[in-house]
Amino acid sequence: MTTNTTEMFGDLILDKKIVAALTDMGFEEPSPIQKETIPLAIAGEDVIGQAQTGTGKTAAFGIPIVQNITDHRHIQALIMTPTRELAIQVSEEIGKIGRTSRIKALPVYGGQPIDRQIRALRSGAQIVIGTPGRLLDHIARNTIKLDHIKFLVLDEADEMLDMGFVDDMEEIMRHIPSERQTMLFSATMPRPILSLTKKYMRAPKLVAIHKEEVTAPSVDQYYYETKDKVDGLCRLLDVEINGKLIIFCRTKKGVDDLVQALNSRGYLSDGLHGDLSQSQRDRVMKKFRTGKSDILVATDVAARGLDIDNITHVVNFDIPSDPESYVHRIGRTGRAGNSGIALTFITPREFRQLKLIERSVKTKITRRQLPTDASVLERQREMIVSKMQTVLEQNKFEEYMSIVDSLTSDYNAEEIAAAALKLMQEGNKALEASESIATAPDFTNTGAKSGMVRLFINIGRSQKVMPKDLVRAIAIECDIPGNTIGQINIYDKFSFVEVPADQAEKVLAVMHRNTIKGYKVNMEPAKGR
Ligand code: ADP
Ligand code: MG
Repeated sequence: MTTNTTEMFGDLILDKKIVAALTDMGFEEPSPIQKETIPLAIAGEDVIGQAQTGTGKTAAFGIPIVQNITDHRHIQALIMTPTRELAIQVSEEIGKIGRTSRIKALPVYGGQPIDRQIRALRSGAQIVIGTPGRLLDHIARNTIKLDHIKFLVLDEADEMLDMGFVDDMEEIMRHIPSERQTMLFSATMPRPILSLTKKYMRAPKLVAIHKEEVTAPSVDQYYYETKDKVDGLCRLLDVEINGKLIIFCRTKKGVDDLVQALNSRGYLSDGLHGDLSQSQRDRVMKKFRTGKSDILVATDVAARGLDIDNITHVVNFDIPSDPESYVHRIGRTGRAGNSGIALTFITPREFRQLKLIERSVKTKITRRQLPTDASVLERQREMIVSKMQTVLEQNKFEEYMSIVDSLTSDYNAEEIAAAALKLMQEGNKALEASESIATAPDFTNTGAKSGMVRLFINIGRSQKVMPKDLVRAIAIECDIPGNTIGQINIYDKFSFVEVPADQAEKVLAVMHRNTIKGYKVNMEPAKGR
């Protein structure tokens, strides 16, 4: 993001209801692609939007469509997406944007019984999102009528092309009234896409958001992969981080939730975001500057322009949505010759986003393990001992003695005391079974070795794939040791690979639609036998 002035959604002549919906969604300001395309689209222009993944293209077309739908009786917008997941995702996002305007979005996709979709369509939706094949099916059955369609969107056009939907796309475009407004979004613009735009769009305006050349400042950068980011963060605060830190969250609600979670666990922190009054902001900043608090939790927007010295750590509690904000965020530490550390949390699904940042910023973000229970305890030892001494000296724990008495017949005093400490430190976690088995609910299928999950991949001998190609691709792309990958079976047109169960979700997220030996591959859990 290059602008210094902050432009808010309100500046884009949006309906107040939509601004309210966006506020509920935690959107503070439009992303670059939104800033440029929304005014054009609201003015009725055909638009071609080109920007990387994660830059907010859905709202870039969703907001103007919601704003321009006035008649609640008919379907007025069709949106084509390459996959059913995207159809659902886009439908959810537009549903949120349209909530306050009472505009309904409905996804339709292959694999779901068509009768159910027909009933849902009858119950009234103004925006329908679907894969091209299923949309055509409904058009042929006249369950989606085209006479009132004012907007047509091709989302992820390059993906649809890759998936061989081009004929379906053209057929849909031929059927829809020509006085419609057409928008096409794509991360890349290969020639067949350009020729579609020439054939089916009216004097389209091209908005291309190119990646800024960004380079990361010299800050040590690490990432942690975990499903429980709050727990992970607390461990770091216990063991590794001591100093002054800014924690970034993606939304205002994220900031509030994290501040509450930290404070309730005894890590005093303050939040900074756009909903605070100027005097509240000043108070928070003063506390932070003067060292009365060491933890500031902020959104990107709120932290912009803040000039604070001596920040030792920047924590990306939520991974930033684009490489530019990553660079802006981590640039808050390591100033004036001091060394700084940037720590990024990711869930398994966000690994691809991390790699994208690494590549565009040309930096290395090194994987690290979260501190173990033992090392957390080691650090806390002195504090626990001193707290226990205080309680012992106060000598006011009579009401607990009867509980201890009821345990002394089976356990000795040391054991009881240690168990009590464990319960105090770990809370309910202490009650869980000691050896939790890696859970991967969807993957419990397929005759793989225990602890392993078998995955299907649609390349094999015909593509000259060797086991080492699969091992190498998965190990490098997913950052897992090659020797943890299990049995591999290669057949003519497909293969199976076993990976550790706790890595399966990530491997699927990273490898599905990724490229191996020049082939764009599909990967999915192997079907049960
Ligand atoms: P793209 O289609 O470009 O890949 P998406 O539309 O899926 O990107 O948006 C990526 C994520 O960013 C989504 O979670 C979306 O809710 C969020 N997002 C989009 N616009 C904004 C915004 N202006 N402020 C905050 N988050 C946003
Ligand atoms: Mg998208």
